[in-house]
Amino acid sequence: MKEWVDIRKDDKHVARERAAAREMRKSAWWQRQIASGVCHYCGRQVGAAALTLDHVVPVARGGRSNKGNVVPACDACNKSKGALTPAERILAELEHQADGPDVEPVS
Ligand SMILES: [Zn+2]
Repeated sequence: MKEWVDIRKDDKHVARERAAAREMRKSAWWQRQIASGVCHYCGRQVGAAALTLDHVVPVARGGRSNKGNVVPACDACNKSKGALTPAERILAELEHQADGPDVEPVS
């Protein structure tokens, strides 16, 4: 996790959305989402039982538990994503690539 990301979470929002996510996991809609067994991020076929419910915009960052903000993710992708928003995730990946030995440092 990147220390520079300032996470100010609203505990009431987090409790409400986590409860909503628990209900969502039991829904027929969610069962259809995981039926293919494919991770939304890496596209690997891991099987429905191994998929977790991932919030695209994390709950801790104000994301909601609704159909537009949850995707099936494998354990590895869910863990590596953490509490980053989609934009921060892209920035973190770019930063990681820039750390490679072939890239000149930006002055
Ligand atoms: Zn994955």
